[in-house]
Amino acid sequence: MNQAPADADARRAVAPVICYPVDTLPRPDLALYAAAREGAEKVAEVVVPPREAACFRAGAGEFFRISSIEGPQVGDLNLWNADDLSERFYSGKTRALHGTHVTRGERLWSSFPHLRPMATIVADTLEWYGIDAFGGSVHDVIGTRCDPYTGNLLSGVQYHHCCHSNLTRAVADELGVTLAEAEGHVHDVLNVFMCTGFTRDTGQYFMKASPVRPGDHLEFFAEIDLLGALSACPGGDCSAEHTSDAAPCHPLMVEVFRPVDGALRGWQGPARNGYEGGHGR
Ligand SMILES: [Zn+2]
Repeated sequence: MNQAPADADARRAVAPVICYPVDTLPRPDLALYAAAREGAEKVAEVVVPPREAACFRAGAGEFFRISSIEGPQVGDLNLWNADDLSERFYSGKTRALHGTHVTRGERLWSSFPHLRPMATIVADTLEWYGIDAFGGSVHDVIGTRCDPYTGNLLSGVQYHHCCHSNLTRAVADELGVTLAEAEGHVHDVLNVFMCTGFTRDTGQYFMKASPVRPGDHLEFFAEIDLLGALSACPGGDCSAEHTSDAAPCHPLMVEVFRPVDGALRGWQGPARNGYEGGHGR
Protein backbone atom coordinates (compact mmCIF):
# COMPACT_ATOMS: atom_id res chain seq x y z
CA MET A 1 0.00 0.00 0.00
CA ASN A 2 1.22 3.52 -0.81
CA GLN A 3 2.28 5.75 2.07
CA ALA A 4 0.04 8.71 2.81
CA PRO A 5 1.68 12.07 1.99
CA ALA A 6 2.54 14.47 4.80
CA ASP A 7 -0.44 16.68 3.99
CA ALA A 8 -2.96 13.80 3.71
CA ASP A 9 -5.25 15.17 6.41
CA ALA A 10 -5.25 18.63 4.86
CA ARG A 11 -6.19 17.15 1.47
CA ARG A 12 -9.02 15.15 3.04
CA ALA A 13 -10.29 18.23 4.85
CA VAL A 14 -11.03 20.13 1.61
CA ALA A 15 -14.76 20.87 1.54
CA PRO A 16 -16.79 19.28 -1.30
CA VAL A 17 -18.68 21.25 -3.92
CA ILE A 18 -21.93 20.13 -5.54
CA CYS A 19 -21.16 18.76 -9.04
CA TYR A 20 -24.37 19.98 -10.62
CA PRO A 21 -26.05 22.88 -8.83
CA VAL A 22 -29.65 22.71 -10.00
CA ASP A 23 -30.68 26.34 -9.47
CA THR A 24 -30.70 26.87 -13.24
CA LEU A 25 -32.85 23.82 -14.06
CA PRO A 26 -36.25 24.81 -15.43
CA ARG A 27 -38.71 24.49 -12.52
CA PRO A 28 -41.85 22.42 -12.97
CA ASP A 29 -45.04 24.37 -12.29
CA LEU A 30 -46.24 22.14 -9.44
CA ALA A 31 -49.20 24.42 -8.69
CA LEU A 32 -50.47 24.03 -12.27
CA TYR A 33 -50.00 20.25 -12.08
CA ALA A 34 -51.84 20.10 -8.74
CA ALA A 35 -54.75 22.10 -10.15
CA ALA A 36 -54.91 19.86 -13.23
CA ARG A 37 -54.82 16.74 -11.06
CA GLU A 38 -57.89 17.83 -9.06
CA GLY A 39 -60.45 17.16 -11.75
CA ALA A 40 -58.50 14.38 -13.47
CA GLU A 41 -60.34 11.21 -14.36
CA LYS A 42 -58.93 7.71 -13.97
CA VAL A 43 -58.48 6.19 -17.42
CA ALA A 44 -56.45 3.02 -16.79
CA GLU A 45 -55.40 0.63 -14.06
CA VAL A 46 -52.80 -2.13 -14.15
CA VAL A 47 -52.05 -4.52 -11.28
CA VAL A 48 -48.53 -5.92 -11.37
CA PRO A 49 -48.47 -9.45 -9.87
CA PRO A 50 -45.70 -10.40 -7.41
CA ARG A 51 -42.42 -11.41 -9.12
CA GLU A 52 -43.82 -10.27 -12.49
CA ALA A 53 -43.84 -7.01 -14.46
CA ALA A 54 -46.47 -5.19 -16.49
CA CYS A 55 -46.46 -2.34 -19.00
CA PHE A 56 -48.62 0.78 -18.98
CA ARG A 57 -48.94 3.91 -21.08
CA ALA A 58 -49.39 7.51 -19.97
CA GLY A 59 -49.84 10.29 -22.51
CA ALA A 60 -48.10 13.66 -22.19
CA GLY A 61 -50.07 15.69 -19.68
CA GLU A 62 -51.47 12.65 -17.83
CA PHE A 63 -50.57 11.44 -14.35
CA PHE A 64 -49.56 7.95 -13.27
CA ARG A 65 -49.55 6.71 -9.70
CA ILE A 66 -47.71 3.66 -8.37
CA SER A 67 -49.30 2.29 -5.18
CA SER A 68 -48.55 -0.33 -2.57
CA ILE A 69 -51.80 -2.27 -2.20
CA GLU A 70 -51.44 -5.44 -0.13
CA GLY A 71 -48.14 -5.30 1.71
CA PRO A 72 -44.68 -3.76 1.64
CA GLN A 73 -43.27 -4.18 -1.85
CA VAL A 74 -40.56 -2.58 -3.94
CA GLY A 75 -40.98 -1.83 -7.65
CA ASP A 76 -38.44 -1.43 -10.46
CA LEU A 77 -39.53 1.17 -13.02
CA ASN A 78 -38.45 1.63 -16.65
CA LEU A 79 -39.72 4.47 -18.87
CA TRP A 80 -39.46 5.10 -22.60
CA ASN A 81 -40.66 7.74 -25.02
CA ALA A 82 -43.64 5.80 -26.39
CA ASP A 83 -42.84 6.94 -29.96
CA ASP A 84 -39.06 6.39 -29.86
CA LEU A 85 -37.78 3.70 -27.51
CA SER A 86 -34.20 4.92 -27.95
CA GLU A 87 -35.15 7.77 -25.63
CA ARG A 88 -35.34 6.17 -22.22
CA PHE A 89 -34.92 6.91 -18.54
CA TYR A 90 -31.33 7.78 -17.61
CA SER A 91 -30.93 6.90 -13.93
CA GLY A 92 -27.24 7.92 -13.81
CA LYS A 93 -27.87 11.49 -14.97
CA THR A 94 -30.99 11.75 -12.81
CA ARG A 95 -28.75 10.77 -9.87
CA ALA A 96 -26.11 13.33 -10.87
CA LEU A 97 -28.74 16.07 -10.95
CA HIS A 98 -31.03 15.21 -8.03
CA GLY A 99 -28.94 12.94 -5.78
CA THR A 100 -29.19 9.27 -4.88
CA HIS A 101 -32.94 9.30 -4.11
CA VAL A 102 -35.79 11.26 -5.68
CA THR A 103 -38.97 12.76 -4.30
CA ARG A 104 -41.69 15.35 -4.98
CA GLY A 105 -40.67 18.16 -7.32
CA GLU A 106 -37.81 16.17 -8.86
CA ARG A 107 -37.79 14.70 -12.32
CA LEU A 108 -36.80 11.60 -14.25
CA TRP A 109 -34.49 12.61 -17.12
CA SER A 110 -34.04 10.90 -20.48
CA SER A 111 -30.98 9.57 -22.26
CA PHE A 112 -28.68 11.49 -24.62
CA PRO A 113 -29.10 13.26 -26.97
CA HIS A 114 -32.54 14.13 -25.62
CA LEU A 115 -31.80 14.82 -21.93
CA ARG A 116 -35.14 16.29 -20.98
CA PRO A 117 -37.62 15.54 -18.21
CA MET A 118 -39.76 12.49 -19.00
CA ALA A 119 -41.79 12.64 -15.79
CA THR A 120 -42.06 14.89 -12.74
CA ILE A 121 -42.81 13.51 -9.26
CA VAL A 122 -45.91 15.30 -7.98
CA ALA A 123 -46.73 13.23 -4.87
CA ASP A 124 -44.70 11.01 -2.56
CA THR A 125 -46.35 9.73 0.61
CA LEU A 126 -42.92 8.57 1.87
CA GLU A 127 -41.28 11.99 1.67
CA TRP A 128 -41.42 12.16 5.51
CA TYR A 129 -38.74 9.44 5.64
CA GLY A 130 -35.86 11.74 4.69
CA ILE A 131 -32.40 10.25 5.26
CA ASP A 132 -32.12 7.81 8.20
CA ALA A 133 -29.23 7.25 10.62
CA PHE A 134 -27.67 4.65 8.27
CA GLY A 135 -27.71 7.05 5.33
CA GLY A 136 -30.68 5.20 3.83
CA SER A 137 -33.51 6.84 1.92
CA VAL A 138 -36.39 5.88 -0.38
CA HIS A 139 -36.87 5.73 -4.20
CA ASP A 140 -33.26 5.32 -5.31
CA VAL A 141 -31.53 5.85 -8.62
CA ILE A 142 -28.37 4.05 -7.50
CA GLY A 143 -29.35 0.40 -7.86
CA THR A 144 -29.52 -1.01 -11.36
CA ARG A 145 -32.21 -3.73 -11.17
CA CYS A 146 -31.87 -7.27 -9.84
CA ASP A 147 -30.84 -9.54 -12.69
CA PRO A 148 -30.04 -13.20 -13.36
CA TYR A 149 -26.49 -12.49 -14.54
CA THR A 150 -25.30 -11.01 -11.23
CA GLY A 151 -27.17 -13.78 -9.39
CA ASN A 152 -25.33 -16.36 -11.46
CA LEU A 153 -21.99 -14.61 -10.99
CA LEU A 154 -22.30 -14.49 -7.21
CA SER A 155 -24.26 -17.66 -6.43
CA GLY A 156 -24.29 -19.82 -9.57
CA VAL A 157 -28.11 -19.81 -9.64
CA GLN A 158 -30.51 -19.88 -12.60
CA TYR A 159 -33.36 -17.63 -11.43
CA HIS A 160 -35.93 -16.29 -13.89
CA HIS A 161 -37.99 -13.77 -11.92
CA CYS A 162 -35.48 -11.01 -11.27
CA CYS A 163 -36.74 -7.56 -12.24
CA HIS A 164 -34.55 -7.62 -15.34
CA SER A 165 -36.25 -10.78 -16.63
CA ASN A 166 -39.70 -9.65 -15.52
CA LEU A 167 -39.28 -6.37 -17.42
CA THR A 168 -37.93 -8.25 -20.45
CA ARG A 169 -40.98 -10.53 -20.63
CA ALA A 170 -43.41 -7.64 -20.12
CA VAL A 171 -41.79 -5.55 -22.87
CA ALA A 172 -41.71 -8.54 -25.25
CA ASP A 173 -45.45 -9.08 -24.71
CA GLU A 174 -46.31 -5.38 -24.98
CA LEU A 175 -44.36 -4.80 -28.20
CA GLY A 176 -44.79 -8.26 -29.75
CA VAL A 177 -41.03 -8.70 -30.12
CA THR A 178 -38.57 -11.45 -29.17
CA LEU A 179 -37.12 -11.70 -25.68
CA ALA A 180 -33.71 -10.80 -27.11
CA GLU A 181 -35.05 -7.61 -28.66
CA ALA A 182 -37.03 -6.72 -25.56
CA GLU A 183 -34.00 -7.29 -23.32
CA GLY A 184 -32.10 -4.60 -25.23
CA HIS A 185 -34.72 -2.04 -24.23
CA VAL A 186 -34.52 -2.78 -20.49
CA HIS A 187 -32.38 -0.26 -18.61
CA ASP A 188 -31.36 0.89 -15.14
CA VAL A 189 -34.40 1.63 -13.06
CA LEU A 190 -35.96 3.93 -10.53
CA ASN A 191 -36.29 1.72 -7.43
CA VAL A 192 -39.75 2.75 -6.30
CA PHE A 193 -40.30 2.41 -2.50
CA MET A 194 -36.88 0.76 -2.06
CA CYS A 195 -34.85 1.94 0.95
CA THR A 196 -31.14 1.99 0.18
CA GLY A 197 -27.88 3.78 0.72
CA PHE A 198 -24.12 3.31 0.87
CA THR A 199 -22.36 2.12 4.02
CA ARG A 200 -20.06 4.83 5.35
CA ASP A 201 -17.24 2.41 6.27
CA THR A 202 -16.95 0.40 3.02
CA GLY A 203 -19.04 2.46 0.60
CA GLN A 204 -21.14 -0.62 -0.28
CA TYR A 205 -24.66 -0.46 -1.63
CA PHE A 206 -27.11 -1.56 1.07
CA MET A 207 -30.84 -2.14 1.28
CA LYS A 208 -33.16 -2.42 4.26
CA ALA A 209 -36.85 -3.12 4.84
CA SER A 210 -38.88 -0.58 2.90
CA PRO A 211 -41.03 1.72 5.07
CA VAL A 212 -43.82 1.48 2.45
CA ARG A 213 -47.26 0.31 3.58
CA PRO A 214 -50.48 -0.31 1.64
CA GLY A 215 -51.93 3.02 0.52
CA ASP A 216 -48.53 4.65 0.05
CA HIS A 217 -47.91 5.91 -3.46
CA LEU A 218 -45.54 7.75 -5.73
CA GLU A 219 -47.23 9.82 -8.42
CA PHE A 220 -45.82 11.34 -11.60
CA PHE A 221 -46.83 13.84 -14.24
CA ALA A 222 -45.95 12.51 -17.71
CA GLU A 223 -44.04 15.25 -19.56
CA ILE A 224 -43.99 13.29 -22.84
CA ASP A 225 -45.92 10.28 -24.19
CA LEU A 226 -44.63 7.39 -22.10
CA LEU A 227 -44.42 3.64 -22.21
CA GLY A 228 -43.67 2.37 -18.72
CA ALA A 229 -42.85 -1.05 -17.28
CA LEU A 230 -42.95 -1.87 -13.58
CA SER A 231 -41.65 -5.04 -11.91
CA ALA A 232 -42.78 -6.18 -8.45
CA CYS A 233 -39.30 -7.18 -7.26
CA PRO A 234 -38.76 -10.76 -5.98
CA GLY A 235 -37.06 -9.08 -3.00
CA GLY A 236 -40.52 -8.03 -1.71
CA ASP A 237 -39.79 -5.24 0.79
CA CYS A 238 -36.06 -5.92 0.20
CA SER A 239 -35.36 -6.55 3.90
CA ALA A 240 -33.35 -9.71 3.30
CA GLU A 241 -32.68 -11.04 -0.18
CA HIS A 242 -33.65 -10.97 -3.81
CA THR A 243 -32.90 -13.26 -6.76
CA SER A 244 -34.96 -16.01 -5.13
CA ASP A 245 -38.56 -16.87 -4.23
CA ALA A 246 -37.77 -16.68 -0.48
CA ALA A 247 -39.14 -13.19 0.30
CA PRO A 248 -42.88 -12.55 0.75
CA CYS A 249 -44.03 -10.51 -2.26
CA HIS A 250 -47.08 -8.39 -3.00
CA PRO A 251 -48.64 -6.81 -6.07
CA LEU A 252 -48.27 -3.16 -7.04
CA MET A 253 -50.88 -1.01 -8.76
CA VAL A 254 -50.43 1.58 -11.50
CA GLU A 255 -53.26 4.02 -12.22
CA VAL A 256 -53.37 6.61 -14.99
CA PHE A 257 -55.34 9.85 -14.62
CA ARG A 258 -56.26 12.31 -17.40
CA PRO A 259 -56.95 15.98 -16.62
CA VAL A 260 -60.03 17.64 -18.08
CA ASP A 261 -59.60 19.62 -21.30
CA GLY A 262 -58.02 23.01 -20.72
CA ALA A 263 -56.74 22.15 -17.24
CA LEU A 264 -53.13 22.40 -18.44
CA ARG A 265 -53.52 25.67 -20.31
CA GLY A 266 -50.13 27.35 -20.58
CA TRP A 267 -48.22 24.07 -20.16
CA GLN A 268 -45.79 23.05 -22.88
CA GLY A 269 -44.05 19.70 -23.12
CA PRO A 270 -40.26 19.83 -22.72
CA ALA A 271 -38.16 20.36 -25.85
CA ARG A 272 -35.27 18.04 -26.64
CA ASN A 273 -31.89 19.20 -25.31
CA GLY A 274 -30.47 22.30 -26.99
CA TYR A 275 -26.91 21.07 -27.59
CA GLU A 276 -26.35 21.34 -31.37
CA GLY A 277 -24.64 17.96 -31.58
CA GLY A 278 -21.43 18.82 -33.44
CA HIS A 279 -19.04 17.44 -30.78
CA GLY A 280 -16.41 19.88 -32.00
CA ARG A 281 -16.21 18.69 -35.62
ZN1 LIG B 1 -35.74 -6.50 -8.30
